[in-house]
Amino acid sequence: GQVLSCRPLVPGRSRSKTGKDVTESCSDLSRPQTPLEGLPVLKKAKGHYWYPSNGPKILDACGGAGVACLGHGRPDIIKAVNTQMKSATYASYAHFQTPPVQELSDWLIKSTGGEMQKVYVMSSGSEAMEAAVKLAVEYFRWQGQSERTNFIARHDSYHGTTIGALSVSGHHARRAPFSPLLSPTRFHHISPCNPYRQLPSSSSSTPDWPAYIAEKVAELEATFTTLGPQTVAAVVLEPVVGAALGCVPAVPGYLAAMKAVCERHGALLIFDEVMCGMGRTGWLHAWQGEGKEPAGVVPVPDLQAIAKGFAGGYQPASALLVGRKVAGAMERDGGGRVFTHGHTYQNHPVVAAAALVVQRAVEREGLLENVRVQGELLGRLLRERLGSHPNVGDIRGKGLFWGVEFVKDRVTKEPFEPGLGIAERVHKVAVGGFRVLVYHGQGCAGGGRGDHIMIMPAYTISERLVGEIVERVAGAVEEVFRRL
Ligand code: PMP
Repeated sequence: GQVLSCRPLVPGRSRSKTGKDVTESCSDLSRPQTPLEGLPVLKKAKGHYWYPSNGPKILDACGGAGVACLGHGRPDIIKAVNTQMKSATYASYAHFQTPPVQELSDWLIKSTGGEMQKVYVMSSGSEAMEAAVKLAVEYFRWQGQSERTNFIARHDSYHGTTIGALSVSGHHARRAPFSPLLSPTRFHHISPCNPYRQLPSSSSSTPDWPAYIAEKVAELEATFTTLGPQTVAAVVLEPVVGAALGCVPAVPGYLAAMKAVCERHGALLIFDEVMCGMGRTGWLHAWQGEGKEPAGVVPVPDLQAIAKGFAGGYQPASALLVGRKVAGAMERDGGGRVFTHGHTYQNHPVVAAAALVVQRAVEREGLLENVRVQGELLGRLLRERLGSHPNVGDIRGKGLFWGVEFVKDRVTKEPFEPGLGIAERVHKVAVGGFRVLVYHGQGCAGGGRGDHIMIMPAYTISERLVGEIVERVAGAVEEVFRRL
C-alpha cells in the first residue's frame, strides 16, 4: 500500500530528474487538461491490465473512460480491424456505402427490435449528441414547426464538449468558461433524478417512488408551460448518469414518465447512452433494461447517442440512432429529406468494422449476462467492504457501472471542500499504491461540490478480478481517509 508521490513527467520519459519512479498517474480525468502533462507513459495494455513503462502493471477497473469493454489488445478484434484496413482504409460517406457500415447499421437496428431505423456512425460521443440536437431541430422544420428550438436537459449532466453538446450539458464547471457561446434562451435545465441528494436518508423504509417521480414530472411539465410547449424540440436525458454524478441510475419508472410528458407535448426524447449504453448496464441499450423493472414500460427514445463500449476503444466510434418517428419523416415524399449534417470521417469503414466485431463478440460470448452477474457481485462487495465507511455516502450503480460518493458526514451528506480534491486523491492512491485504475469526478452534489469514483471494468471480468478490484479500491479509500 505504498503511496508514490505525484510529479510531472517529461513526455517519452519515465523517470524524473532525480531518477525517481514517476509512473503513477497524476491525471484528473474529470477535468480537461493539457495533453501529456503529468501522465505516466503507457508501454502496452493487455487484457485487464495497463503496463506503464516503469513500475508494476495496473489493474484496469474503469476501461479508461468506461470504454474498454472487452479489455485491451484482443487479437481477434485487431485482426478484423486489420482485415478492413486491407480492403478499404477510408471511404467518404458522400461517395460510397461500405459493407461494415451496412452490416453494422442492420445489426444495430435489429438490436433495438426495429425501434431505431437509421444509423449515423461517427467518432465521438460529442459528435453523436451534437447531431441529435441538430436533427431534432431539422425534424421539426420538416414538420412545419420551426419554432421548436428549445431543449430541456438536466443539471449535473454531461453530454459532450462541442458547443451544441455542451449547451445541453448541465455541467457548470465545463460550461462556465464558454458561457457567452451557450445560448441561455434555447437550453434549459431541470433537476436530475438523484434520490441520494434529493431525499432524506431512511434506512427503514423504501422511498415513495411514485411521489418522487410525480415531483419530477411536475417540474418538467412546468418547464414546458413556461417555455410554451410548442417551442420545445426535445428533452435530453442520460438513463444512468455517468461522469457528472457517478453512476446514478434513474429510479424505475422515471424515464417512462418523462417520455409520457414529451409525448403529451409532441416533443422528442433524446437519450444519451454514450457511457451507459452498449451493454454497460447489463442490457445492450440501457432503456431496454427498464422494461424488466416493476414499472414495466420500455421508454424508447426518439434519438439515441452511443459511443464508448460501442467499439471498446479499438477505434474511436460513436453513433446516432434515429427512431421510427424521425426516420419516417426522412423517408416521406420519396426520402428526399436529408439531414443537413456530415463529418469527413462519418461512416468510416474501419470504425464500423471495429464496432461490428466488438458487438459480435459481446453477443457470441454472452457477455451481457456476465455484466449482470459480475455487476451484482461488484455492487454487493462494494457495499460489504465500504458501505459503512464513515466517508462513503452512497454506493449505487447498475451492471458493471458503479459509483462511490464520498462525504464529510454520512448523516448530513455534506460534501468535502472542492479544494481538498478527495476523488482525485483516491484515484492517485488507487493507482500509485494499489495499482488499480478508477475514474474519478467532482461536482456530484451540485455547484461543483462532491466527490465520486466510478468502477467500470470490462464485460469479460471474472469473479476473482471483481473481488480484487474491490479489495484494492477499498484499500485506497481507507488509506486516503486515514491520512486526511
Ligand atoms: N455524453 C456522455 C454521457 C459522456 O459520458 C461523454 C464523455 N464522457 C460524452 C457525451 C462525450 O463523449 P466524447 O468525449 O466521446 O466526445
